[in-house]
Formats: sequence, structure tokens, C-alpha cells
Amino acid sequence: MDLRRLSLFAVLAAALAVLATGLPGAARTVQAPPSAGGAKELGDPDYGVCRGTDARCYHDWGNFDPAKGYRVLLYTRTAGPRHANLGPALGAGLNPTLTAANVVQNGVVALGEKNGFTVDWTEDVTRLATPSALFKYNAVIFFSTSRDTLDGAAQTALRQYVRGGGGFVGVHNAFGTEYNWPWYEGLLGNANFYDHGPAQPGVVQTVGRSTGLPARWNFTDEWYNLVPAPTKVRVLATVDEPTLKQGVRGSQGHPGHGRNHPVAWCQYYDGGRAWLTTLGHGADIFGTGAEAQNFQTLLSGGIESAMGEKPFCQ
Ligand SMILES: [Zn+2]
Repeated sequence: MDLRRLSLFAVLAAALAVLATGLPGAARTVQAPPSAGGAKELGDPDYGVCRGTDARCYHDWGNFDPAKGYRVLLYTRTAGPRHANLGPALGAGLNPTLTAANVVQNGVVALGEKNGFTVDWTEDVTRLATPSALFKYNAVIFFSTSRDTLDGAAQTALRQYVRGGGGFVGVHNAFGTEYNWPWYEGLLGNANFYDHGPAQPGVVQTVGRSTGLPARWNFTDEWYNLVPAPTKVRVLATVDEPTLKQGVRGSQGHPGHGRNHPVAWCQYYDGGRAWLTTLGHGADIFGTGAEAQNFQTLLSGGIESAMGEKPFCQ
């Protein structure tokens, strides 16, 4: 053994000794980067309803007639922060006048025209006052609603509608809505918006059998961090956290979700179908670019499945 190999042996022996006796004291204070493994112990409340991916949780009670075609109600009322892509607040009633600034409303209407479902839109909570008003629709879409967007009557109507087999689609700040109503948190899949890091490009990974989307696709969003985070649902898409160059840590300290950072999922819930995505922040999501097209494919597939037009949550 020459001198060089001897010294290498000595270094290896020293390293093994350190491993055997534990790390030096100073190293114990060094913590892993917050994003390494993601947040843990985010809770798993029992909402007291049948929920998950088992179709036996669905109430097929004949409240919807596919022969009449497919119709959705788009609800965008904000009782707190308002996303720029919603444009100015809408007037009362059903289907009030839209301007070009109402990007989301125009976008969902166009998505319906392209995919064969009719879209009504409103920010008038009285249009959600009764279950019978909602049963006209194969799905109700909450797109970046905020805070206490429903009154008591609308809360009751939404719950009865879901129990009667209705479809619910929650997009982006639907996760910043009705924080203090546990049934709604459960409807979201046991999830609520907590915070987000910088809005930035990242790579979305399609999970399982989500159709029509590449396995990996580029998108720009805020990448919501959640508390609690989805349980018992079927995850349809995740963000690949290491592709977020500015990191995933949120403004309120959330370290992200590590290897399983869901951005879209689905579940049966209390008799109905719920399809959710945290994506949808940007002004260009209904544009013609590749990112926007993939978002629209994700969303239209979610709407069609929540309506029962296509297989749900498979
Ligand atoms: Zn946003």
C-alpha cells in the first residue's frame, strides 16, 4: 500500500468512525431545506360523509336527464380578494353582460361551445338559493370565488344539490372560499388554500389515466400550498416541485408538498361528484398557446366528468 492509498484509507476510516458515533454536534443543528420532503401532518378530518373514489358514494337518483343535453352554472362571485382574470364584478341576475376583461367567464363559455355543453354564468348568490335552481345544471363551477361567497340559503342548496348527485368543479381560488364551512372543505377533497410561493413556470405531471394530456407539460401558476391537503381522492396531476426555480415555499412559511404536490384531483363526495384543480391564476389560461391549451384540456375533461358525460375519476 503506497502512501497515497494509505492516506485515503485513513480518511475513509475517519469517515466511518463519524458515521458510527453519530454526526458532530454542530451538524445536528443543520436542517434540511424546507422543500426537501414537503409538509407533514396536515390533518385528515372526518367530514361524516361517504367520500373517495368508490362509486358507491354516488347517489344516482335520476335528477339529471342526459337527453336534455349538458349545462353548467359558472359562479365567480368574490366576497374577498378578486382575481384579475375575472374582470370587473358582474351585474345581478343570470348571464349578465360580459366585457373582454371577464377573461374567465368568456373562456368557460367558449370552452362549452367547443365541447358541447351550455354555460350560464352568474355572481348573483340568489341564483343559487334553491336546490331546484341548481338541479337544472349537470355541474356547478366555482372559479376563483373567494371567502364567504355563499349565504345560508345557497349553502343549503349546494349541499342538497351535491347529495342529489350533482357535479361540483372547483378551480383555483375556490380553495380560498368558505374557509369556515367544514362540509365545503371536504367537498374540496380535504383541502384548503394556505399560501403560495412566487408565480412562476413549472412542469405539471399527468398522473394515471388523465386523457388527452402529455405526461409532462409546462404551465405557469402560483402553485398553491394546501392545509389540509387532499386525502382519499384520486390525484390527476401534480407539480414537479424541483422545476420551480424560485422555490415552492409560500409567503406564510408552508414548505410545499415535496414529491406529491397535487394540482388536480377528484372524488365522490356526499352523493355527488367533485373535480378540483388549484391551477387557474393567470390572464392567459384561455389563450391559444400550448400552456393554455393544456389547461383547457384539463379543465374541460374535469367538467365533462363531473357532469357525468364522461367516466368520472378513473
Ligand atoms: Zn391566484
